[in-house]
Amino acid sequence: MIIMKFGGSSVKDAAALERVAGIIRSRRDDAPVVVVSAIGDSTDRLTQILDLLERGRKAQARATAKSLSANYDSIARKIIPRGEILSELRGTIQSHFARMDELIEGMACLGEVSPRSRDAVLSVGEIASSSMLAAYCRSVDIPAEAIDPTKLILTDARYTEATPDPAGTKSRCEQFLSPVVARMAIPVVGGFVGADERGVTTTLGRGGSDLTASILAGAMNASALEYWKDVDGILNADPRIVPKAKPVPCITFREAAELATLGAKILHPASIQPAILANVPVRILNSNEPLSGGTTITSAAVPGRDSDDRFYPAVSSITFKRAQTMINIYSTRMLGTNGFLRRVFEVFDRLGISVDHIATSEVNVTVTVGRTDALEALRLELGEIATVSVDDNVGVVSLVGEKLPATPGVASRIFSALTGINVSLITYGGSGVNLSVVVGNDNVDTAVRRLHKELFETSEDEDHDDV
Ligand code: ASP
Ligand code: MG
Repeated sequence: MIIMKFGGSSVKDAAALERVAGIIRSRRDDAPVVVVSAIGDSTDRLTQILDLLERGRKAQARATAKSLSANYDSIARKIIPRGEILSELRGTIQSHFARMDELIEGMACLGEVSPRSRDAVLSVGEIASSSMLAAYCRSVDIPAEAIDPTKLILTDARYTEATPDPAGTKSRCEQFLSPVVARMAIPVVGGFVGADERGVTTTLGRGGSDLTASILAGAMNASALEYWKDVDGILNADPRIVPKAKPVPCITFREAAELATLGAKILHPASIQPAILANVPVRILNSNEPLSGGTTITSAAVPGRDSDDRFYPAVSSITFKRAQTMINIYSTRMLGTNGFLRRVFEVFDRLGISVDHIATSEVNVTVTVGRTDALEALRLELGEIATVSVDDNVGVVSLVGEKLPATPGVASRIFSALTGINVSLITYGGSGVNLSVVVGNDNVDTAVRRLHKELFETSEDEDHDDV
């Protein structure tokens, strides 16, 4: 049994839905459970409806709901030929949106949009898209069934940001999902949506469908979790800067988590953690290029070769953050004393500023932070205990790889690639998963390109094998 999750852009229109059905068909022997997001940007539109209601604009809210429902209806009519399946689907879509109209009336009448009502409205996107995808699959002879996520995903009652309860979800899945799989049907579950103990609809926060898929993968003990997106997996650099960037065939969970915090726009590590904890391999695949290899994320803690004996290069991927701030804190009082670092970091703590990278010497602490409004306050407070200089025009380029510490010679390759670029801070160590350098904001692109060339494009290691 596998879980296949399709995001909003993979089901954004008729052509996309057709591709998705083809991909589901190709996986039939693996007994898939499908998780689907709301179509395209529907969640944004639903959010707009709620925001309009909050500002008392009922007519506009109703008009937005109407055009959204017309959009679902027109996609349905485009992809499914006239007949029983289509009329049933149109009826289902209509009833979801009729319920939404009632909610809109209610909220307008009360002049209040509670988090609980928000979830009732937001859930309509995923519920309608799962009905649509299941109906379309049936119309092309794939035995799919839409399954109501409020029956499967048990959450706490923190509406709009609910947290799933894995144990409760597991027993619900045994009751409502396993029998569907057992009779060889393909369940299609709307992501992002759950219900609390009392059965009231909740949502898991924006982007929550990824979490739904991962929770189901754990609950159902899936043999794989596939995220179908509109990119080729995790790339070894940002393709906007490095057109030759290639997908990383496999990456460890620690590397993926590190990449996400260091600036890469990839799956949120917290979303995939339930699957990783349950030892389910996670794949990221491209729904526009189903045959491209994609990226596998594994829980393998030991770098080197994964269970399929594939090779991990020293560096898996290069990422960066632009527009960062570097703060240099200098004090001769630090010489031979203790407690200075504590005082410095208390200031950061008080101002709620999170520090990304740190390097220290005997009389100096240098840190980087993201853009912050509290910079002046920080400068003032630190100024009371040290001499402070700030450079708010830097970028951080990070190389991520579990094998970095175990690969002799890689540091010299990295630094020779950066020849001529002024590096003002280097951090490496601790987790051993990343090496980061601070460079001028204007040098970020050049640094990323040069590093990619050195580590991934040299002729003898096109397959990255001896990096
Ligand atoms: N549709 C929701 C959102 O756009 C959930 C998701 O797509 O994961 O945030
Ligand atoms: Mg979405």
